[in-house]
Amino acid sequence: MALNPRRSFLVRATGLAVSASLLSASRGALASLPETRSLAFEHTHTGERLTTVYAIGDRYRPEGLRQINRILRDHYSGEVGSMDPRLFDQLHELKRLLGCDAPFQVISGYRCPATNAALRKRGGGVARRSLHLEGRAIDIRLPGVALAELRDAALDLKLGGVGYYPASNFVHVDSGRVRHW
Ligand SMILES: [Zn+2]
Repeated sequence: MALNPRRSFLVRATGLAVSASLLSASRGALASLPETRSLAFEHTHTGERLTTVYAIGDRYRPEGLRQINRILRDHYSGEVGSMDPRLFDQLHELKRLLGCDAPFQVISGYRCPATNAALRKRGGGVARRSLHLEGRAIDIRLPGVALAELRDAALDLKLGGVGYYPASNFVHVDSGRVRHW
């Protein structure tokens, strides 16, 4: 982009002040582009990591969704589920609210029925009709953010269910109805 003569004169003349106005002009231009939403994950069981753009403006990006579905697969059976993209928007909002760019550490994402049944047998508060089975729930922690702070931010969003598991050091977030435990 070429500067117009008046502006380049001003740049020479008044340095800092004009740099600031150019900066705000370019911010204005960026604001009119569709927003790009990305998420980063680190799976605590598989050790896999992923950073990907999953949405641009009001469209989800199929390749990004595919990559996230894969990292959030049932790590016991290897089955890849189809996660609810609205859950990703919740995570994105959570990240924004907390001002945190660290990857979400994932304890559990999608669960196939056999895994859910096995985990239930073991105990530990696994629901029979867990939203993990529908790809609508994730158990997470966020490095550098206290677990209670992560829970409070998730509650503030009022976008779905929030479960607090301090003994296991994770927060459950789902895209079901707004409720908490
Ligand atoms: Zn959960």
